[in-house]
Amino acid sequence: LAMSSTSSLVNSTRADHPGGRETVINLDHGDPTIYERFWRQVGDKTTIIIPGWQSLSYFSDGSNICWFLETEFAREVVRLHKVVGNAVTEGRHIVVGTGSSQLILAALYALSSPDAAEPISVVSAAPYYSSYPSMADYQKSGLYKWAGDAENFDKEGPYIELVTSPNNPDGHRREAMVNRSQGLLIHDLAYYWPQYTPISSPSDHDLTLFTVSKSTGHAGMRIGWALVKDKGVAKKMTKFIEISTIGVSKDSQLRAAKVLKAVSDSCEHENSQYEESFFMYSYNIMSQRWKQLRAVVEAGDLFTLPQFSPAFCTFFGQETEPQPAFIWLKCEGDIEDCESLLREHKIISRSGKHFGASPKYVRISMLDTDETFIQLIDRLSAIQQGE
Ligand code: PMP
Repeated sequence: LAMSSTSSLVNSTRADHPGGRETVINLDHGDPTIYERFWRQVGDKTTIIIPGWQSLSYFSDGSNICWFLETEFAREVVRLHKVVGNAVTEGRHIVVGTGSSQLILAALYALSSPDAAEPISVVSAAPYYSSYPSMADYQKSGLYKWAGDAENFDKEGPYIELVTSPNNPDGHRREAMVNRSQGLLIHDLAYYWPQYTPISSPSDHDLTLFTVSKSTGHAGMRIGWALVKDKGVAKKMTKFIEISTIGVSKDSQLRAAKVLKAVSDSCEHENSQYEESFFMYSYNIMSQRWKQLRAVVEAGDLFTLPQFSPAFCTFFGQETEPQPAFIWLKCEGDIEDCESLLREHKIISRSGKHFGASPKYVRISMLDTDETFIQLIDRLSAIQQGE
């Protein structure tokens, strides 16, 4: 999700002509409205009531390094990682943030040194998440500086590498690209959940970021969390959040706790309150969508998709397919600007150039509503047939 183009999201015309042939569909952002039906079915199990006298204090738990972390939220984070098996939480400090976006900035601040002679380089392997360059450089910090594609990075000395796995935009599993001893790593695991990729083992890194935005689809709640090994780093991240927002909304943390609890409850088989687990539901929708998409793309030779191999998923106890939250679509042949081609057919996508890649590629969200997704499939099919 890019901060700069929210207005185009608001101005999307789909509300005016739902389902209309002429409607522009905006799939530039990864706005995760896909799981709405699940949450409607859950009904009041995730409703919370916050009386007026609650959440008056800035403080949540004065004894915790992250003093604005709500205990209930922290408990549900630990429980969910245990249920899913996607992250080690033992020996980690939890730092909550206003989305993982705030935590990326907090981590850059915490990993850089105020005494360094020059800003520390921030790199990520292309194609990288399009917000990283602006996050690093927007405020022209003297502490850190965007240094581009990790693959071409050859500067001596310390650096910060953002490792996104599975990756936004292309969905591939990733490990650190620059393998040097002075590297400080931020693992952005926003998509390391069973509906998007096989869970192979619990992640076990120094600094790992997660978010409700892509896991449960509650992007509007603005809640993310970091699992941090080093106490000093956790303290500095907490300080950053104190300086920028004096903590993170308690109302949102309480709501997030309730939503994460529902996800964990739905996964525990003995819990009959849920017809199916959230991840079974979300895996199945993603699976249907990817099947439809592959069928359309493979029917012609204009477009290609990345290839993925299935792998064993410890959560589902069987082999599963990667089914990313984004389509990383390539225009084949002599089409140089895939974004323009799609725009002519009323599909707004994000050009590969924003991800440090060629404009022959575009990124398209797979997490929109059913209605928009069906329109996308129809239009891609029409383009293939030369309509
Ligand atoms: N990291 C990655 C890789 C993302 O794709 C996103 C959302 N597009 C974020 C971080 C930020 O998410 P949020 O601030 O909503 O948690």
